[in-house]
Amino acid sequence: MPRVVMKFGGTSMAGIERIRHVASLVAKQAAESETCVVVSAMAGETDRLVQFCKEAAAEHDPREYDVVVASGEQVTAGLLAMTLQNSGLDARSFMGWQLVKASGVHGNARVDGIDSSELDDALSNGTVSVIPGFQGATPDGRVATLGRGGSDTSAVAIAAGLKADRCDIYTDVDGVYTTDPRIDPNASKLDRIGAEEMLELAGSGAKVLQVRSVGLAMREGMTLMVRSAFEDVPGSEIISNWDETMERTAISGIAADRNEALVKLIAEDRPGRLAAALHALADEGLTVDMVAQASDSLHFTVPRTALDRALKALDKAKDKIGHTAIKSDNEVAKISVVGVGVRSDPALAAKVYDVLADRQVPLLAATLSELKASALVPESHVDVAVRALHAAFGLGGE
Ligand code: ADP
Ligand code: ASP
Ligand code: MG
Repeated sequence: MPRVVMKFGGTSMAGIERIRHVASLVAKQAAESETCVVVSAMAGETDRLVQFCKEAAAEHDPREYDVVVASGEQVTAGLLAMTLQNSGLDARSFMGWQLVKASGVHGNARVDGIDSSELDDALSNGTVSVIPGFQGATPDGRVATLGRGGSDTSAVAIAAGLKADRCDIYTDVDGVYTTDPRIDPNASKLDRIGAEEMLELAGSGAKVLQVRSVGLAMREGMTLMVRSAFEDVPGSEIISNWDETMERTAISGIAADRNEALVKLIAEDRPGRLAAALHALADEGLTVDMVAQASDSLHFTVPRTALDRALKALDKAKDKIGHTAIKSDNEVAKISVVGVGVRSDPALAAKVYDVLADRQVPLLAATLSELKASALVPESHVDVAVRALHAAFGLGGE
């Protein structure tokens, strides 16, 4: 019998009625495969728990943060298991921390492996297993969470650990689109997308899949599908081993990332200025994305959620970096145009910046890499800019 992992996101699990609907989809699947279900917390619940942590203590122990925020998924896993039982299915829940070995930073832990033997037995005996996503346990037995959106990664890791035939991510859209359909209603659904392009889109802010889930699926050769939890229509397949004989579109899609903040250090140009700043941030586990240098200043972006920590770290290292002032702007966003065309056709990247200039969108920073051309713009211009690029690259449906 095939083995399938189904993952349901927050909107699909928000309330008993929706959980009943999810149970009906699981029951249908369970009639034709061994079925394991990974669930998110109800929509909005993780945000609520994060807020509680902030209110309890502005500077809190990340291990206790994980204890709090991991709880939302426990609720939905238990509720789905009892709903399935109520409809006559043999079902039970396992806790993520009983199965998922994790390590690294609390709040953003990585998955090291899956303890699958008990789960394996349950599935082989026809028991539908329900597992809270987003959580694992560290070697010292503490609960750890996998970063926001981490249930996708839980699902793929569990699918790989169980040697499942596929992993279906059920969400509130019916697939991967050429851009976020909430920004541009003309976005069109992609029947399939290469994992490399999906990795770039997810890493650039298309939160339909957590970026690490895509990387993991690619490494494990796991078949990954994005599908609707609400409509019975075909979804999008993420293809790890793209057969180069299949036609590949030059531009796959456009992503916008609002979790960006621009930091500007007023500092005279001197050797080691950038390295000292990057060291100060790295010591705090903070990553830098875009960098621009001028003779009297240094500009870079950090995740908006980490801006306060970044400013503190830079201030502490003031003598080494040599800056006289720091300015920051958290009303910025990054737009990325993703596709193999960026690698093969230099004119495509130029066109991105042409379109922005035509629309008089201020360009605060830019980066080019193999598969994407990115632009940092004021947040107030994001939607207009995404729609303009989407139209200019002909990504809308007929
Ligand atoms: P879930 O709770 O199911 O994990 P998420 O909110 O994390 O759902 O992800 C689904 C959302 O991702 C969609 O509602 C959509 O607004 C957004 N999204 C962003 N970019 C894209 C894209 N390219 N294709 C589809 N959805 C996208
Ligand atoms: N509930 C977690 C979050 O909101 C994990 C997830 O939904 O994937 O980030
Ligand atoms: Mg998600």
